Amino acid sequence: MHRILVVEDEQAMLLGLRDNLEFEGYQVDIAEDGAKGYDMIRNGNHDLVLLDVMLPFMSGFDICRKIRSEGVTTPIILLTAKGEEIDKVLGLELGADDYMTKPFSLRELLARIKAILRRSNNNNIILDETLIIGNIEVNFSNYEAYCNEQKVKMSHKEFEVLHFLWDHRNKVVSRDELLDNVWGTDYVPSSRTVDNFILKLRQIIEKDTNEPTIIITVHGVGYKLIN
Ligand code: CA
Repeated sequence: MHRILVVEDEQAMLLGLRDNLEFEGYQVDIAEDGAKGYDMIRNGNHDLVLLDVMLPFMSGFDICRKIRSEGVTTPIILLTAKGEEIDKVLGLELGADDYMTKPFSLRELLARIKAILRRSNNNNIILDETLIIGNIEVNFSNYEAYCNEQKVKMSHKEFEVLHFLWDHRNKVVSRDELLDNVWGTDYVPSSRTVDNFILKLRQIIEKDTNEPTIIITVHGVGYKLIN
């Protein structure tokens, strides 16, 4: 049974969604404010989140941005109010999977939920976009990696770092290039951050992390993914 979390501060909407989703056979958890919703998304094992934008304590956008930066990949449908046109686009850029503008039809919401759940169920049988990098088979389009048919736990950022290195394979990539392209200019972590991510990636893909053969260090310059 699929588990859905509804984060919504309007009581009538919250309870209406819960009842209808339960009627459709979903297991439903609810949160009435942003802070609680954020905690539940991080801790709960949900297959999908319906996330209102205007919420007490923490907006739907902030929640989206925050959990994606923490590597949580749970699909999210944003519930926006009319007139939040720009916000909609922004919401999708923040890592939401879809959005519905209130008032929406229940039938359409259910169709979108089904489509997203079907997509995430099918993800592990998409083979044509699978690349082999060291020990793992990786699919950058759905952020999934497997090692000996076992799913590998990797955060969004780890995928992005690996993806950037892959796109620039056999070339030297500096720490600054990685920082600019993966973290962006508004968030500035230290160059230690990059080194820590490389270490994590090596533990995942290299046979021997002491003698890396795939992501090699180019001293004084940066890193190079060999393929
Ligand atoms: Ca609201």
